[in-house]
Amino acid sequence: MMKVSSRLAAIQGSVTLAIDAKAKAMKAAGIDVIGFGAGEPDFNTPAHICQAAKDALDQGKTRYTPAAGEPALRKAICSKLLRDNGLSYTPDQIVVNNGAKHSLFNAFQALLEPGDEVLVPSPYWVSYPELIKMAGGIPVAVMGDPENGFKTTALQFRNAITPKTRAIVLNSPNNPNGYVYTRGELEQIAQLLEDFDLYCVSDEIYEFLVYEGAEHISIASISPQAKERTIVINGMSKAYAMTGWRIGYTASPTNVAKAMTAFQSHSTSNVNSIAQYAAIAALSGPDLELRSMVAEFAKRRECVCKLIEETPGLSCIKPMGAFYVMMNVSSLFGKGIDGRVIDGSTAFTELLLEHAKVAVVPGIGFGADAFVRLSYAVSMETLQEGFRRIRSFVERLA
Ligand code: PMP
Ligand code: GLU
Repeated sequence: MMKVSSRLAAIQGSVTLAIDAKAKAMKAAGIDVIGFGAGEPDFNTPAHICQAAKDALDQGKTRYTPAAGEPALRKAICSKLLRDNGLSYTPDQIVVNNGAKHSLFNAFQALLEPGDEVLVPSPYWVSYPELIKMAGGIPVAVMGDPENGFKTTALQFRNAITPKTRAIVLNSPNNPNGYVYTRGELEQIAQLLEDFDLYCVSDEIYEFLVYEGAEHISIASISPQAKERTIVINGMSKAYAMTGWRIGYTASPTNVAKAMTAFQSHSTSNVNSIAQYAAIAALSGPDLELRSMVAEFAKRRECVCKLIEETPGLSCIKPMGAFYVMMNVSSLFGKGIDGRVIDGSTAFTELLLEHAKVAVVPGIGFGADAFVRLSYAVSMETLQEGFRRIRSFVERLA
């Protein structure tokens, strides 16, 4: 058998993508499965964005672009950052990547020396620890308090800092917990960056998905010092229903952008040229569809939280952003079905899929085994049907 390197052997595959692939394969095999697994908007990419891609194809925009991205796209990203986040960047500080996951990959490669510790607010999105390990770093989970919606505080970060700490990951609005940091909280974290000479990787991919008056603020906008220490991560996947197009980007100090561009020039080169033209249309065009998607997510959020609270044995933390909800299933631990006992989130997830044909993500992948994560980026009918099944599954447990 061919042996893989220890570097790759240490990496776990993405559970969110694996569950999504499993649910999609079951659907393709004709099984009526309800997918609350991977977080991907169920809406289609808005028509004007698709049209821009068709136009780019017709106009022969099918060749290499600069590795960091089309200048027109990097300019459009600068305008967006100024308009939406009050951040002033120049195009040479922007690098366009194959999705925000790739942006994060590049960012950790740019910042970390072997053995550097990176504080990861926990429960965390599954890819952060692996992306950090791929760069030789050591992820250090900093658990938020469930009473505080799992939001990791500046004090909790502070207590986890060691001489080896190099960076803090922030993800607000948050996947999987749905919290959104306030300006005051970000000011305290920005102060830590300065006091302890740390960098921040700020994943802002869910920025537009906020509810009940919650406001997204980029930590880079807190002060010029915070901006100098931050790599902003963002992309098209969530806000514009463009998960398959693979467009993400970083905004960072010029020297970091330059290093990441050189790195990318030997790995992936530029992102698909046609997708880049679609991204220009997304960032510069009307935001009507975006607004109506957010309004729809807001309704679904109310609906899913109500359905959870109405189901005996289940509870949740009401999310303020993104489109996930963490559902506490720990009161069902010890119960079982057909001789199998639920001893954690993995068993719950497997039995739910098998007996109720509903896909969710086990919290263990996020560092929170009492929970499973549901994505409510699905239609209202799907939510209702999913919970009809979940309720009857829970009733069958003994
Ligand atoms: N960050 C977070 C928190 C996410 O949930 C996702 C979803 N996949 C990403 C980054 C990456 O998104 P993409 O690669 O599709 O841009
Ligand atoms: N970010 C989404 C999720 O958390 C998509 C899957 C992935 O890239 O991990 O489900």
